[in-house]
Amino acid sequence: MEETSLKNSSSSFIEENLLNWNSVQRDFEKAFGTEVYSSWLKDLSLVKEYNHYVILGVQTRFFRDWITSRYADRILNELKRHKLSINRLEFKIVGGEKVLKGKSITSIAAPFGKKITQITDSVLNYNRLNDSLNFDNFVIGKSNKIAFLSAKKICDKLSIYNPLFVYGGVGLGKTHLINAIGLELSKNNSVMFISAERFMYQFIKSIKKNEMVSFKDFFRKAKVFIIDDIQFIRGKEGLQEEFFHTFNSLFEKSAQIVISCDRPPNKLDKVQDRIRSRLSGGLVVDIGAPDFDLKLNILNKKIEEFQNSFKENLNLSKEVIEFIAKDTKSNIRELIGIFNRIVAFSKMSNKSLSINDCKIILKDVYSSNKIITIDRIQNITSNFYSINLEEMLSQRRSRPLARPRQIAMYLAKKLTTRSLPEIGRKFANRDHTTVIHAVKTIDKLSQSNEEMKKNIDELKSIILND
Ligand code: ADP
Ligand code: MG
Repeated sequence: MEETSLKNSSSSFIEENLLNWNSVQRDFEKAFGTEVYSSWLKDLSLVKEYNHYVILGVQTRFFRDWITSRYADRILNELKRHKLSINRLEFKIVGGEKVLKGKSITSIAAPFGKKITQITDSVLNYNRLNDSLNFDNFVIGKSNKIAFLSAKKICDKLSIYNPLFVYGGVGLGKTHLINAIGLELSKNNSVMFISAERFMYQFIKSIKKNEMVSFKDFFRKAKVFIIDDIQFIRGKEGLQEEFFHTFNSLFEKSAQIVISCDRPPNKLDKVQDRIRSRLSGGLVVDIGAPDFDLKLNILNKKIEEFQNSFKENLNLSKEVIEFIAKDTKSNIRELIGIFNRIVAFSKMSNKSLSINDCKIILKDVYSSNKIITIDRIQNITSNFYSINLEEMLSQRRSRPLARPRQIAMYLAKKLTTRSLPEIGRKFANRDHTTVIHAVKTIDKLSQSNEEMKKNIDELKSIILND
């Protein structure tokens, strides 16, 4: 009895909730970043929407394969945030008109009356130098000093090291540093700054549109060529071929080449030997993990920037700043993320924060590294309600069992990335509509019922922290 009425109520709940494609797209851009979004996702269209799945339109088979292999999981997760019931995604090839509509390619008349095509959005799309990543706000420490000095050096004397190859782990400042080089050199030179991923996108697009001539021209006329995240070419033969020729032709005319990578050239597997040797033929420098002092100096720099731009004092004690510097692992991006979070909180609460406050604010940052499984959630929930796990998962519907079961389903949905059907299966093979109902019920109850809210918070904190 209960099951059928649940199904009815949950499916009527879903039907009311249709996707707003514009807002989905805005979230794609936020989630994936402008680069990936504008290269791959911007032209996705919503072809058909069902309760549990959607069909998205892509321009070509290549796009479909590319998006499926790299972004499908995250797209699905994003869609779920808009519509909980979606658990499957399909792509349909809908033809290429949309690419053209993007105004990125225009036909112009050539002198001989023949039509040729030209890449017209070049300045916007390639020279995406970010003004806020410059030398002035690049803080120097032991781990990045050599990279920094080398970068400055080529700005003073072009091609003294060619190429300059900067490598290091994620979030350590590679993009910042090579962007700073680009900004500095663009004062007097034509600078091309592009990520390897974007280079690839442009390459494929040019092949398809028969525009290889303008593609080659375009990339080879720069005086300074900066390419970010070159590891992206691993395993992509056609792209490597093109990159090799671009590299050679730039090199021959003494253009300065700057490259960033997540590893040193000799660790670039699945890359042709001849490219590896070109990459290591200039100066290879690394950016290492920041030490405590560098982290502290970066935080102080951020505080200064904040105070300058908002004209207000940040009420952070020395202890708190040191705590953030000490407690953050090795990644500067993460350090800044944590800093921003604490600043936001301190502004909101309008008080001077203690280290303990910070620990609370950062709780989920730390626990996000922990892998939360449905098993863990089930065990903790059944323990919490002092019931037996088998009973909690059983088909029995008495409230003392059904409620904790629903709560566990709800937490599985909120705290893991498992899909609804997967969660259903972990709960003695229940249907995903049962999971939807549980999520909806507990969502509602935890808003209206203090006791429920308290229990959920407590459960979450045990699951995330212990
Ligand atoms: P990567 O390209 O190595 O993954 P990024 O260059 O994107 O890393 O750096 C991540 C974040 O850390 C950016 O916000 C960047 O401005 C900041 N950052 C990195 N190194 C420094 C530094 N030495 N001084 C100031 N900010 C830095
Ligand atoms: Mg980067």
